[in-house]
Amino acid sequence: MTNKKDRVYKDKASCSGCSACYLICPTKAITMHTDERGFSFPEIDEKKCISCNLCEKVCPWKKEYPWKKEYSDNASDMLKCYAAKHMDKEIIASSRSGGVFTALSDVVLDSGGCVYGAAMDADFVTRHHRAVSKSERETFKKSKYVQSEIGNSLEKVKVDLEDGKYVLFSGTACQCGGLKAYLSKAGVNMDKLILLDLVCAGVPSPKVFADYLNWLQKKSKKKIERFEFRDKDKYAWGEGVEKVRYSNGKVRYQDYFTGSLFFEAWVRRECCFHCPWARVERETDVTLGDFWGVDKICRELYDDKGCNLVLVHTPKGEALFQSAKKDLLAKEVSREQVAHSQKHLYQPTEKPKDYDAFWEDYGKFPFSKVMKKYATNTVADSFLKKAIRKGIRFITR
Ligand SMILES: Cc1cc2nc3c(=O)[nH]c(=O)nc-3n(C[C@H](O)[C@H](O)[C@H](O)COP(=O)(O)OP(=O)(O)OC[C@H]3O[C@@H](n4cnc5c(N)ncnc54)[C@H](O)[C@@H]3O)c2cc1C
Ligand code: SF4
Ligand code: SF4
Repeated sequence: MTNKKDRVYKDKASCSGCSACYLICPTKAITMHTDERGFSFPEIDEKKCISCNLCEKVCPWKKEYPWKKEYSDNASDMLKCYAAKHMDKEIIASSRSGGVFTALSDVVLDSGGCVYGAAMDADFVTRHHRAVSKSERETFKKSKYVQSEIGNSLEKVKVDLEDGKYVLFSGTACQCGGLKAYLSKAGVNMDKLILLDLVCAGVPSPKVFADYLNWLQKKSKKKIERFEFRDKDKYAWGEGVEKVRYSNGKVRYQDYFTGSLFFEAWVRRECCFHCPWARVERETDVTLGDFWGVDKICRELYDDKGCNLVLVHTPKGEALFQSAKKDLLAKEVSREQVAHSQKHLYQPTEKPKDYDAFWEDYGKFPFSKVMKKYATNTVADSFLKKAIRKGIRFITR
């Protein structure tokens, strides 16, 4: 007998947990469940399943993307590439890269539209939320290196579009792919939807991150009040140093999670090693990333606070970028100049050799033991050690 679960995802390497199958199911036979690693997957209740196969048809991992067949250097005719950063230095400081997300989302909010993005809530869980004001949108800024809970955001986007609202949805390429597949199967008009995705190295486990925060709290005997994955006040944009504020007001800088667990890729979702969107070409309107190497291409936009790589794929994306340009310093660059600026634009992250060993240890041992074996804090390292690590990181990112 065929296991009906197989109808949605073949194996865990081909499901990003986008929830499109769960939403499209006409009999509500699908529910989303969190596995032992902290990632969410669909499960089918066979008693409710009427074998309509809609779940299979909607899955963005089953789609034949034109670029999957062969690598082609011919991008879509539309593709435009920019180096860009916000004119307001405070906005750059409060953003991961150059603050282009703020400029783009300002245009949508100023025209009465709404913006979706990932925020870290007070319980330190990262979830997708809807914002209709700039203050609500502020929480979406800065990268959270965990998979965000998509919750009922895709349904809310559907309602917004049906109500005739402009919507900017921001998230990883697989979240955008899931939303687009769901809306198109549900027959929703997407003229007023702008999809913004990120150049993406992969998403770490929310469960490991929660364990990490508990481990830090136990170690320090203090409650954590604020956590940032990559500080830009004290450290440069290219560093991966976390900033943790404790209940006694003390601030600690370290890189156990960002620098070890995330950068070494042990805690990333398995599908990320097979990501079909690790490309310059995308299905979205705009893609944002860090513009590594911008100092060699347009020196005038370089400093250690951040600069965005902007890939514009559609006329809708270009119209939004042009409207936002009044707030930006921007320069058009060629596809050739960006294509090989970082490997997530042409190939997914490689699965580390000891990936399976990590998860075996994680399931078997107390978290403190896992940390001892896999994580280091290099912030206290000597200048020489740091320079070596920085070099390795530059080669591998
Ligand atoms: C998990 C992850 C991996 C990334 N990997 C790379 C990479 O390898 N190379 C690269 O060039 N850029 C990467 N980025 C993108 C980059 O860090 C910036 O998000 C991007 O350059 C936008 O910068 P900004 O200053 O314009 O935006 P900011 O103002 O910092 O806005 C952040 C944007 O990121 C979204 N976001 C934040 N956290 C998440 C999350 N967990 N899930 C979904 N969306 C989220 C928000 O919704 C918002 O749209 C990654 C981002 C994330 C979240
Ligand atoms: S539709 Fe999304 S959640 Fe469902 S199997 Fe495909 S990737 Fe996974
Ligand atoms: S690497 Fe690909 S599959 Fe993984 S979170 Fe990023 S976009 Fe999704």
